[in-house]
Amino acid sequence: MPRSDLAPLPADLHVYAIPLRTRFRRITVREGVLWRGAAGWAEFSPFGDYDAAESAAWLRAAREAADVGWPAPVRDVVPVNVTVPAVDAATAHRIVTASGGCRTAKVKVAEPGQSERDEVERLEAVRDAIGPGGAIRIDANGAWDVETAIARLRVLDRAAGGLEYVEQPVADVPGLAAVRRATHVPVAADESIRRAEDPFAVVRAEAADIVVLKVQPLGGVRACLDLAAEIGLPVVVSSALETSIGLAAGLALAAALPDLPYACGLATAQLLTADVVADPLLPRDGAIRVTRPAAEPDLLATSAASAPVRARWLERLAEVEGVAEVERAERG
Ligand SMILES: [Mg+2]
Repeated sequence: MPRSDLAPLPADLHVYAIPLRTRFRRITVREGVLWRGAAGWAEFSPFGDYDAAESAAWLRAAREAADVGWPAPVRDVVPVNVTVPAVDAATAHRIVTASGGCRTAKVKVAEPGQSERDEVERLEAVRDAIGPGGAIRIDANGAWDVETAIARLRVLDRAAGGLEYVEQPVADVPGLAAVRRATHVPVAADESIRRAEDPFAVVRAEAADIVVLKVQPLGGVRACLDLAAEIGLPVVVSSALETSIGLAAGLALAAALPDLPYACGLATAQLLTADVVADPLLPRDGAIRVTRPAAEPDLLATSAASAPVRARWLERLAEVEGVAEVERAERG
């Protein structure tokens, strides 16, 4: 590890709590820790279901952002998709129309309690809003079984007027491979990469056409660049629903990848009701300009978490930092 990785965390840690516009990933408020290091601002915001051991990768990503910085970009704009949560058709239409010119939409499907009809109507509305030249991808977050996925893909591919790809239709790698063999819709692996013991299982099983990489859960921009090179499949960079501080790391990865054939899932600042930078990383003409914003003191103040939430995050960070120390000691 670089020596800078061992720098102590600064005393000035900002814990934020920002409500989401729409419930997403079963949460309504996004929380995390922000701080400024020698290289710039960093975000540490593992979701609540990540334990300390899993969150160590999120801390490595934050450490890289704060202490090391990122490789040089090879492009200065990154095309992005608008994300459509599991909302009704009218809301879906409105979200795409208000997306800042996005030419690609990613639509959530397989939401508990919703029917095939809800999904068909959502996809028809998205196609109507994005026009015949736009691309539509769907994300099932691993919620279907193989049979349901194959049957549902036929219906949803038709409703969407053609799907660009389906992200994580089923949870496990053999299932992904089975779905991929049974449909002409390309398959993207997300959870099978970022929450897997072995991200290369997807490659060996020929289970995906595309991989989704997220900087925080995969341990940083450099770790993702190395992984992308080893996997050798097209990459879509997505966010973990961060503030613009965390999004900037995803943008740095998308900007540094040698090839970027697909729009990235980085236009998620619009899912938060507030941000901590003056000029949030939002798309214009369907793309985000590659920049690295800094947090504004007044915005940090207005989005600051309550005392108990702050205490919980500082405790969590200390616990993850402890795990990271052990990992370093074992490696060193
Ligand atoms: Mg996904």
